[in-house]
Amino acid sequence: SGNVTNICCVGAGYVGGPTCAIIAKQNPHIKVTVVDLSEPRIAAWKSNSLPIYEPGLQEIVEVARDGTDGRQPNLHFSTEISKAIDEAELIFISVNTPTKLAGVGSGSASDLAYVESAARHIAEVATSDKIIVEKSTVPCGTAESLREIFSGLADPSVKFHILSNPEFLAEGTAINDLLEPDRILIGHLPEEKAAADALVNVYAAWVPQQNIKTINLWSSELAKLAANCMLAQRISSINSLSAVCEATGADIDEVAYAVGLDTRIGSRMLKASAGFGGSCFKKDVLSLVYISETLHLPEVAEYWRSVVEINEYQKQRFTRRMIKRLYNTLSRKKIAVLGFAYKKNTGDTRETAAITVISQLIAEGAKVAIYDPQVSENQIIHDLQSANPAKNIKDSITIYPDAVSACSDACAIAILTEWDQFKTDLIPAPKSQPPAPVPQLRNLTLEDSTATSSDLSSASSDAGSESPEMSAAHASTPLSTPPTEDALEGKPGSER
Ligand code: NAD
Repeated sequence: SGNVTNICCVGAGYVGGPTCAIIAKQNPHIKVTVVDLSEPRIAAWKSNSLPIYEPGLQEIVEVARDGTDGRQPNLHFSTEISKAIDEAELIFISVNTPTKLAGVGSGSASDLAYVESAARHIAEVATSDKIIVEKSTVPCGTAESLREIFSGLADPSVKFHILSNPEFLAEGTAINDLLEPDRILIGHLPEEKAAADALVNVYAAWVPQQNIKTINLWSSELAKLAANCMLAQRISSINSLSAVCEATGADIDEVAYAVGLDTRIGSRMLKASAGFGGSCFKKDVLSLVYISETLHLPEVAEYWRSVVEINEYQKQRFTRRMIKRLYNTLSRKKIAVLGFAYKKNTGDTRETAAITVISQLIAEGAKVAIYDPQVSENQIIHDLQSANPAKNIKDSITIYPDAVSACSDACAIAILTEWDQFKTDLIPAPKSQPPAPVPQLRNLTLEDSTATSSDLSSASSDAGSESPEMSAAHASTPLSTPPTEDALEGKPGSER
């Protein structure tokens, strides 16, 4: 109990890296070491080009890792996992928990192999008492499995105090989410209050005490899954309504705006899209489906499974609508795709709707022109090649260095990530000559040329949790004129 002075984090990913950078920055007296099995990942964290793109992260890392504010550096990245474990009093387990791809629960259960291997490693090398913190999103009951691993493998004189402390940051806004969290959850068994207090003190360096909630261990594990499932469900709800809008002449942005004015519902996470992506929503919903099935709650499992099914339906619907608007043939047509990341302000492409949409466009014979401000050419090719193993993907796609060249001569533009720059990139700079006839442009874009600002607006989701906005995605047939800001944007109601 009391105050810890040495923290280790196992897993230097989207969660471990930013979270520990903030913990180190806010606690100059605590030595924080982030470890990973991946040599290139650790090398990148030590370099000037960090392995992940996250606004504001670089500056924070430089302060804590390099002491740019004059402090003694207290943030370290290392592949010497055993050493860092042994030296630490508190260890975060922040490894990946993807959907299982084989064996029992394949396709829905969370794969705890990485959590287990991290735990075994800790058990094998620990020579002093440790506070073990589940940072990864795990199924309800995982702390019990950890306890068994420690009691089976570790030196019996070493005590392990297990806590749950799920992470609610959302990629793209991680730094702000970490600096001003809605809440910090710390779950513990009654006998582990001292360990929980030690973790409370780490966060209390910058988070107001009333925002740090200590709750029951199992509630904490389940609360994280529940939060992501309910966020994903909101997106599937609004996306399902977008199908009704398109069939009736209602406008999904207006519906979302009107619904969101109800304070019981609220306006965030109500942007219709081409479907959510990211590494978390789908796997966490499926994890809850699996848990419900194993608890013999088939109705509950079915309910949550529909959230994922609507998301798949929406991705298909988006592409089908594009194809239909292009006279049912994409053969050799140039289709521009703006945005490849699963949401704005990240370079993360895990589960991005862009992979599904582009793969379908390619299957129809389209030549797809892709631009994303943060995703590298190699990453895009890698993702699309893996999704289409039977094809040589380079025959069907071209990566462009900017939005304008990607869209030049395109039959249609699909905006699959809501990057802010897409609102202005395609709007010509004002000419000194008479101003462009804006109202006509709008009419042309929205009705004539069928750019569908509210049709199927928007892709995205969010990986860890709340994202304030969804992205804009638009299927549009030949645009003789660039889309107007209106057509590109479609944020629900903010300007109404
Ligand atoms: P990630 O894949 O980016 O990072 C995980 C890292 O753990 C990898 O670098 C991997 O090499 C490393 N690793 C795996 N096993 C290891 C071991 N035994 N020893 C050392 N290193 C090991 O994953 P992430 O996006 O950071 O997610 C981590 C967890 O946090 C997941 O459970 C996820 O559900 C949860 N989460 C993610 C987000 C998000 O936005 N990405 C938000 C909240 C919660």
